[in-house]
Amino acid sequence: MFGCPAFAIYLWFTLTQLDGSLLAFYCFVQKNGLAGLRAAWPWPSAEAAAHVAAFGALQAALQLGLPGRAFKGPVSPRGNVPVYKANGVQAYLVTLALFFVGWRTGVFSPARVYELFGEILSALNLFSLAFCCFLYGKGRYAPSSSDAGTTGSLLYDFYWGMELYPRLGRSFDLKTWTNCRMGMMGWAVLVLCYAAAQVQREGALADSMAVSVLLMQLYIFKFFLWETGYWCTMDIAHDRAGYYLCWGCLVWVPAIYTSPALFLVSHPVRWGPVGAAAIALAGAAAIFINYDSDRQRQVFRESGGRARVWGRPPRKLVAQYSTGDGTQKTSLLLMSGWWGLARHFHYLPELAAAFFWCLPAGTQRALPYFYFFPFLTLLLLDRTFRDDARCAAKYGAAWVQYCKAVPCRVIPYVF
Ligand code: NDP
Repeated sequence: MFGCPAFAIYLWFTLTQLDGSLLAFYCFVQKNGLAGLRAAWPWPSAEAAAHVAAFGALQAALQLGLPGRAFKGPVSPRGNVPVYKANGVQAYLVTLALFFVGWRTGVFSPARVYELFGEILSALNLFSLAFCCFLYGKGRYAPSSSDAGTTGSLLYDFYWGMELYPRLGRSFDLKTWTNCRMGMMGWAVLVLCYAAAQVQREGALADSMAVSVLLMQLYIFKFFLWETGYWCTMDIAHDRAGYYLCWGCLVWVPAIYTSPALFLVSHPVRWGPVGAAAIALAGAAAIFINYDSDRQRQVFRESGGRARVWGRPPRKLVAQYSTGDGTQKTSLLLMSGWWGLARHFHYLPELAAAFFWCLPAGTQRALPYFYFFPFLTLLLLDRTFRDDARCAAKYGAAWVQYCKAVPCRVIPYVF
């Protein structure tokens, strides 16, 4: 599904023009065929491109300009240590403040963003293609570090990427810009635009939209609070900057991650105060547990394994590995707390949170749940296998020992 621009576009089309009905989409294709699909494709207008360019430039300026402490990422496979400026929370708060000021002063119209969203997606598709061509050329002729190289296949290099840490100059980290500031921040701003569009179209904000957007904002805020942890995860430390990752962050995230709220704009479900509060509380609890498990591992490693976990000294393993140049290193593996329940326990609250911000869309349609299932469920399932295989290759016997001590992948006692 990654790398499939048509899927993202027709999901938008079905959610906004066909009442979110897969059956209606099927009938549309039956009746109108390819010509109908071509006619439904929104072309990138100058206005849509201007919105994308303005948002991208603003995020780049905030990433470079806002203060933040220096954070050292994990040692790369070639033995490099990338340094980042940790200013994600500041960028998130300034972006939200600018959103509200811009909206209230009439500098930009959130409802217009909703109307233009098909064209914006089209513009983002073209931009991500051009951006990945640039990344390919940069990785080939001017890589930022020794964590770069070709596999010999042009197609594979373009898709998977040439560089692990591409930068412009010393400090503008391109993966932080695409993944965090365009993808995650774009998600935050888009769902606010949808909520504003609902107020404009329906005259009021439905509790379903309020709960869904609130949970997403909480999740995105927690993401930026933990952004330094994100710089240590697979996306950044293992996956290269190619079409797979960049298109995913520039097109797939805005199209798919925002889709429950996109549907809600013209389908305002009413839950009532008790139902809405119950969904909000359950979703917030899931987001907190997901945050706490990521944070627990981060604090554990930063403290050299000394930080207490759930009030006790942690059970841990010292795992040895060697970097690409043959240097011997050690890592700590946590076997207590959330990390003692299952090897990827944190994916469970991640999925639960996603379910709770899709749930406000009600039971009328399946499509607003697409983000939760099948997309995120399959993505995380695949990740458990990919990550286990990578860690087994990296840590060898220590990983086998960890798997014996913590035998379940995700659900304690079950899987
Ligand atoms: P993880 O947080 O699962 O990190 C995996 C890495 O952590 C491993 O490669 C290994 O790296 C290290 N590790 C594994 N086990 C241990 C242990 N017991 N103790 C210490 N370190 C360990 O990476 P993800 O990127 O998958 O997830 C990060 C967050 O992002 C999660 O909250 C997840 O839910 C979320 N996420 C959200 C997605 C979405 O689209 N909504 C998609 C994917 C993730 P090392 O080489 O350093 O040892």
